[in-house]
Amino acid sequence: MPLSTEKWLALIALCSRLIRRRFFGVILAPVLLIVVFVATPIVIASDTDGWTALQLLGREIAVGTKSKFPFIPDRSFEASYLNMPVFVARGSSPGPTLCLTAGVHGDELNGVEVARRAFAQANPQTLRGTLIALPAINAVGVRTGSRYLSDRRDLNRAFPGREGGSVAAVIAHAVFANVLHHCDALVDLHTASNNRANLPQVRADLSNPEIRELAIHFGLGIVVGGSGPDGSLRREAARLGIPSIIYEAGEPYRFQEHEINRGVRGVENVMAYLDMTSRVDQEIPDARVYEKSQWVRTALGEGGFFFPAAELGSIVTTGDLLGIIVDPLTDENFEVISPIPGQIIGMAVPQPVLSGYALFHLAWHDPG
Ligand SMILES: [Zn+2]
Repeated sequence: MPLSTEKWLALIALCSRLIRRRFFGVILAPVLLIVVFVATPIVIASDTDGWTALQLLGREIAVGTKSKFPFIPDRSFEASYLNMPVFVARGSSPGPTLCLTAGVHGDELNGVEVARRAFAQANPQTLRGTLIALPAINAVGVRTGSRYLSDRRDLNRAFPGREGGSVAAVIAHAVFANVLHHCDALVDLHTASNNRANLPQVRADLSNPEIRELAIHFGLGIVVGGSGPDGSLRREAARLGIPSIIYEAGEPYRFQEHEINRGVRGVENVMAYLDMTSRVDQEIPDARVYEKSQWVRTALGEGGFFFPAAELGSIVTTGDLLGIIVDPLTDENFEVISPIPGQIIGMAVPQPVLSGYALFHLAWHDPG
């Protein structure tokens, strides 16, 4: 006979009372252990059989419904830093949970809109499993156009976070402790950083076969290898065993239709790959997988006004002219030459630059 949750709680309470009273002796302990062993498989079976409402952050999201709510209902000043929106679609039948995160860097708006549109399109009546979106984790940064948190920390170096740490650590911990354990896969949505643009691409730890497959089935065509920096959401989620990838596209501070549309299509592809949706037209293009990448930087003493010659997405070879830097005081021109063959997956926009400034991000295939 399966034990109900109430009976389980009563059993645990009884055990702890007996331990406290030192009656948990030679006879009683084995008897209770046998009860636990017999009951456990039955309880697990009864939990997975039924597809029920999702309990998340103190809310209940019924089967076949969608819900949008704040991460915490608290209205205090302190809570405003944690008051990110949460979008949940609980499907009408069992399936995996896909989590979308965006706005970890608050100025990277394309991803915020990818998460919103992908969620808006999800139909909980036909969905298998659950879609959870945290479209603006750094909610204050999204509102104010800031990559960083109010204390100037980078949230994407603070995961998995800890209780009682900085605001970054507190937010990271809240997300990890309350949401991440639900996720069977994670897509974290980003753009390039300030004054740079990224070709739409997926970043993934290619040494992990599950992550590699997820990245390829995003269907974007370009997959760039790398596990991400310590403390980044993607890396730390992967450490928990959650296959995690990043979609990077475009520039910060603006909404770019092309980059947003590709991201939404990518999320749709991932949902079809995870069998959360049925799509007959799913067509995954051959992925161009780049295991290696490197930045070409402004040479020492060759700072000035930067004007690119090559474009985002260009495939270049060693010796190709990538751009020109003009020293506005001496009118001297410096050529930026490609040191290797590869594809330009990220680049600086035209702007004044100084020595060492990262200009072109080149990626290439190197299976090792
Ligand atoms: Zn970012």
